[in-house]
Amino acid sequence: MIEIRELYKTYGSKIALNNLSITVNDEIYGLLGPNGSGKTTLMKILVGILKPTKGKVLVEGVDVSKNPLKVKEITGYVPETPILYESLTPSELFDFVGKIRSIPKGELEEKVNNYIKAFGIEAYIEQFIGALSFGTQQKVSIISALLHNPRVLVLDEAMNGLDAKTARIFRELLFEFKKEGKSIIFSTHVLPLAEIICDRVGVIYQGKLIAEGSVEELKEEAHERNLEDVFLKLTESKEDIYEIIHALRP
Ligand code: ADP
Repeated sequence: MIEIRELYKTYGSKIALNNLSITVNDEIYGLLGPNGSGKTTLMKILVGILKPTKGKVLVEGVDVSKNPLKVKEITGYVPETPILYESLTPSELFDFVGKIRSIPKGELEEKVNNYIKAFGIEAYIEQFIGALSFGTQQKVSIISALLHNPRVLVLDEAMNGLDAKTARIFRELLFEFKKEGKSIIFSTHVLPLAEIICDRVGVIYQGKLIAEGSVEELKEEAHERNLEDVFLKLTESKEDIYEIIHALRP
């Protein structure tokens, strides 16, 4: 469970998160919002990379500000862009992750073998990470976040760059993780994907939670037929789009 309580984050005079409260139970929770709405800031606070200006976050009951190491132990984090050691190979990186996560050697080997096969990256695991494509780096980043079997997953645009097969495999894995009782928070701009995988979604706009519920609930409340239209309506972008297109036409 992730409990976000009255969270504020400012960067100088810029308010990035404004009194945000969200609870993620054992579910897949989709975090939606236009660029600059505060999604990455929130995710970085959840995993202890950034400190909130005010408010608190509990991950499985553990206060991130008070015990960040414990939170790191139980959480898997996939950042928006892969942050990896370019001069290591994936194989070396997985060994390193295994060591710092204290994963027994046999278990690590089995997991790495299973994941590299599932994600189709066997051919790349002895090459330098810096030489790999964005998609392959993203797969390496995801595997690194899963190896210690975390109870909580914080996924910032984690499907970016994945080919269709891997995206499907990862999606099915998330369903399995949910069945095991893991809590998953997942940001995406791909609204049809959010519609398929999320039990509930929260829409943040200018650092505030402006809507929350199941996709069905939100569609009903907004009188719209799909999540994309709900999202555009909520973020006041819908009318704008027609004006912009009109202005572009000769
Ligand atoms: P999102 O992930 O939804 O695109 P971000 O969390 O990256 O949003 O950004 C939220 C707001 O905070 C934006 O206005 C962004 O410009 C600002 N911001 C993010 N990181 C920093 C930073 N390190 N310093 C100053 N402003 C930042």
